[in-house]
Amino acid sequence: MNAHKELSLEKQTADFIEWLSKFGENSDGGVTRLLYTDCWIETQEALKNLIKEKGFEAYYDEVGNLFARLEGSDFKKETILTGSHIDTVVNGGKLDGQLGIIGGIIAMEYLRNTYGQPLRNIEVVAMAEEEGSRFPFTFWGSKNIVGSVDRETMEELKDEDGIGFIEAMHKAGFDFKNSKVRDDLKAFIELHIEQGGVLEIEQKSIGIVEHIVGQKRYMIEVEGEANHAGTTPMGYRKDALHGTSKMISEIMDLAISYGDPLVATVGKVEVVPNTTNVVPGKVIFSLDVRHTQKDAIIKFTNEVTEKIEEISKKMNLKTTINNYMDGEPVPMDSNLVNIIKGECETKGLNYKLMHSGAGHDSQIFAEHIPTALIFVPSHKGISHNPAEFTKIEDLTEGIKVLIDTLYNLAYK
Ligand SMILES: [Zn+2]
Repeated sequence: MNAHKELSLEKQTADFIEWLSKFGENSDGGVTRLLYTDCWIETQEALKNLIKEKGFEAYYDEVGNLFARLEGSDFKKETILTGSHIDTVVNGGKLDGQLGIIGGIIAMEYLRNTYGQPLRNIEVVAMAEEEGSRFPFTFWGSKNIVGSVDRETMEELKDEDGIGFIEAMHKAGFDFKNSKVRDDLKAFIELHIEQGGVLEIEQKSIGIVEHIVGQKRYMIEVEGEANHAGTTPMGYRKDALHGTSKMISEIMDLAISYGDPLVATVGKVEVVPNTTNVVPGKVIFSLDVRHTQKDAIIKFTNEVTEKIEEISKKMNLKTTINNYMDGEPVPMDSNLVNIIKGECETKGLNYKLMHSGAGHDSQIFAEHIPTALIFVPSHKGISHNPAEFTKIEDLTEGIKVLIDTLYNLAYK
């Protein structure tokens, strides 16, 4: 690309982000775009018109995933898919999700204008939902594309106002997916912001994700005996909070001794009765553990369980450990990782092979088709917040890598 085109790519990207962010914009500059709301419909419709204006085919699937399509000349049953989610969290930023859609459309337009028709179809998808911000269900868009949605679960879902999922879906003009799962999808490439601070700290422009972490989540209940703070001598107490503090301390020391990429978080602690002059009778605390390797998660959580039981026994407490979530790590396609790595090396880009500590649509696709996830830096790692920011140079660097990747997969 020459200097003129580079400049125009930056301007095109900045303008596109500003334009799309107007849909669902809050007074403080954040964006709220929840599944099947009026604002969500308005956004998808505006995007659909824009796609048509650019001369691409635009269509929805049954559930409201919006696709932009550039037909291939030779392999009409092979489609290279890129894109991300159009929904946001409540008062989210201007990049989470929509960057992948904006980048995909810019990339597809650039490729068509520069090289003409591809050999394979290229499609960009604005996925209906990923965040789970309106209904307690995540990855609705991508799960429908790969055909892994269970109808019964959806029928029971309600939002905060008591509106049922099905009712909201019908009101927006959509329905369950009845068509067969697509067998033309040969690869999925997602461009996304990192939502962590690693790339910025290490001064890298591009992250090539090798794994999306697996995670286990627990609620741990420690039961002792609530008693008078003045009349119960230290030796006669069953202090649930004292026991919990030892447990948390052991868990954190163990996590630190494991080192990267293991992370363990106790983010929620509930003390009963939570009163100044009563020995705490019960504590319930959460534990979130993530790592790129399943074996490491199992080894760590087994050791944690042993330590908790040991402390519990020693301090005369009764502890129940409830593992309520168990998500396995998902590797990205190593062939695609190598292709993207090769492009970065050829271009002399500052890239890093890394893992994603957060979940993405890519993890849903990766179980079905070759999938790659490309990161650009997030300033201070801030995300799900109006302050979400990435330098325009980094955004366009990410789009250029996406252009090269789509070229590699659809034109060769
Ligand atoms: Zn996202």
